[in-house]
Amino acid sequence: MALTKEDVIQMAAEANVKFVRLQFTDIFGVLKNVAITVEQLEKALDGEMMFDGSSIEGFVRIEESDMYLKPDPNTFAVFPWRPREGSVARLICDIYNADGAPFSGCPRNTLKRVLSEAAEMGYTMNVGPEAEFFLFLTDESGRPTTITHDKAGYFDLTPVDLGENARRDMVLTLEELGFEIEASHHEVAPGQHEIDFKYDDALDIADKIMTFKFVVRTIAQRHGLHATFMPKPVFGIAGSGMHMNQSLFKGEQNAFYDPTTPDQLSAEAYYYIGGLIKHAKAIAAIVNPTVNSYKRLVSGYEAPVYIAWSAANRSPLIRIPSKKGMSTRIELRNPDPACNPYLAIAVCLKAGLDGIKNKIQPPPPTDKNIYHMTPEELAAENIESLPMNLYEAIKELQKDEVVKSALGDHIYNRFVEAKLIEWDRYRVQVHPWELEEYLEKF
Ligand code: ADP
Ligand code: GLU
Ligand code: MG
Ligand code: MG
Repeated sequence: MALTKEDVIQMAAEANVKFVRLQFTDIFGVLKNVAITVEQLEKALDGEMMFDGSSIEGFVRIEESDMYLKPDPNTFAVFPWRPREGSVARLICDIYNADGAPFSGCPRNTLKRVLSEAAEMGYTMNVGPEAEFFLFLTDESGRPTTITHDKAGYFDLTPVDLGENARRDMVLTLEELGFEIEASHHEVAPGQHEIDFKYDDALDIADKIMTFKFVVRTIAQRHGLHATFMPKPVFGIAGSGMHMNQSLFKGEQNAFYDPTTPDQLSAEAYYYIGGLIKHAKAIAAIVNPTVNSYKRLVSGYEAPVYIAWSAANRSPLIRIPSKKGMSTRIELRNPDPACNPYLAIAVCLKAGLDGIKNKIQPPPPTDKNIYHMTPEELAAENIESLPMNLYEAIKELQKDEVVKSALGDHIYNRFVEAKLIEWDRYRVQVHPWELEEYLEKF
């Protein structure tokens, strides 16, 4: 049920809230905060809180810097780890221009815009993310290391699993914040964990992903650990993905489910897969947005390398989990948790809708282990690779009008500009691998 301004004011009073953090996410997926006192709450809920947009990377220039925060009352939550007297709450906000129009550089507005396109076609979107992360030790000065004493592996139990206490605390805190946790377990690599929460409406899930990362980091810190969502922190072991399970619903019905077909997938599900595959290379720029993201997308660690789909195995880009009915969904496996969830969901949905509108047929499914296919076998089945690095991905994004239109001009231009600079800063570095390889040889 939707909360009103009055509900929020009453809930804040009941919970003895003293400070309210007005939160929003920038284009690059970083959570930002403006803290106000509870005395300002009514003004904030009326959308009258102004901030300087020019101080946020990728937003606006100094001449047009006045921006307004419009809190979404449904996102009101009290932080469970703060004192009960004078407690702290948050509200997630949309950003508006001084003239009252939604700001096109706001990722949350952008997702809402693409969701309304889906709504015009009669669809709502559900998303279930599976965010993986590492817990690392910190050094004497509190700085994160990449060391973990934990030798545990997939689904191992204590006493080997040192992150277990921290993870348990994370799950409890998330539940207090209204998350329905479906599973939490140790992942394949030492120090690697996953906490899955129940799928929900796409906008709500994008908000939840931001809250999730914030909670995981905060609780890890309280256990003296550093949590990182960096996609590939350690060479030679698995990286961290954030698989995005997605489905379209029409009313209460899952539009991807059709009990009358042999594989129980509807025509819409096929077209949605077709759209994701067609736009996969450009989507990568958004769902794998860092230099490091592409170090994860290599053979042998359950992360995708090739643009293909399968009903079963975990090597292709898209997997269709066997559970059908309401759980019929498409699992896109390349997103990593460094992505901006609002933009990631927006570009996937846009590509899927393009598939449905234009009846894009996906290629036949690939049921072999793709990591073991030879280049000739891949070529014979027309299976292409995902971009090899951030630069290639940006070049693909520049060619894809559908994905660009999901982002809108403002976000597209700022994103490409910033990512090309990021790539160039990386490109000119001399990496330890090069010294190891060449210093003595030449
Ligand atoms: P995996 O088989 O890849 O390990 P999990 O069981 O860990 O998958 O995660 C499944 C995710 O998919 C959960 O977040 C779950 O809520 C979500 N999910 C289930 N049904 C749907 C649906 N209809 N649409 C979107 N996501 C869904
Ligand atoms: N860690 C793997 C990845 O990078 C995924 C493992 C899994 O299937 O849960 O995507
Ligand atoms: Mg996993
Ligand atoms: Mg998965």
